[in-house]
Amino acid sequence: MRPVAFLSYLLFSTGLLLRSSTPDAKQITVLVDFTDVRSATSLNALKSELQNILSDSHLQLDLQLKSDFPDASVPGDLVLFKMKGHCTMNALPIAALSDERGPLAMTYSVNGELLPFGEVQCDRVRTALQRAIGRSNPEAHQTEYGVALARVMAHEIYHMLAKSATHTKEGLTKEALSPEELSRGTPRLASAAQAAMRGRTAKAGSFY
Ligand SMILES: [Zn+2]
Repeated sequence: MRPVAFLSYLLFSTGLLLRSSTPDAKQITVLVDFTDVRSATSLNALKSELQNILSDSHLQLDLQLKSDFPDASVPGDLVLFKMKGHCTMNALPIAALSDERGPLAMTYSVNGELLPFGEVQCDRVRTALQRAIGRSNPEAHQTEYGVALARVMAHEIYHMLAKSATHTKEGLTKEALSPEELSRGTPRLASAAQAAMRGRTAKAGSFY
């Protein structure tokens, strides 16, 4: 009995050692602050798409509504997005500026330093998506809309975590994303962007 018990103890200890030497995914808490209506379907799609994108960089997403979030410190990184406008495909056209092209999202900066605060222009993301999928049957496209929101947010999260304003030649961190890239295929963060994010988050967790 004793040798068996000892052996299983050894195996158990080795398992613990292996687990503790494997770098865990670092947590990133994303707070979203909706200023107007939102679609629950889109929000669920946003969450799962953003988690998929960030997991390539070994980041574990914890997405919370800012209104639900207690004022407490969180492990890992914290970023905040103000979600401006109508965050749903169902929004009625509220202006005749549907062809206006402008930024879909942005990251705030002070004196050239990028901050972990950004905003998403929900109406512009919807308008851009409509160029790819049309305007009919909006309720059927809430999931694609959530995916599009996640992709523009992933782009900004790269800027925030890497503290870099540069863009990559491919992937979600290109300078501009087409309407198709917002909703189709599975574009991901470029490997250079992932490395930059990992480098910064590793430093943020140390005391150097
Ligand atoms: Zn950018």
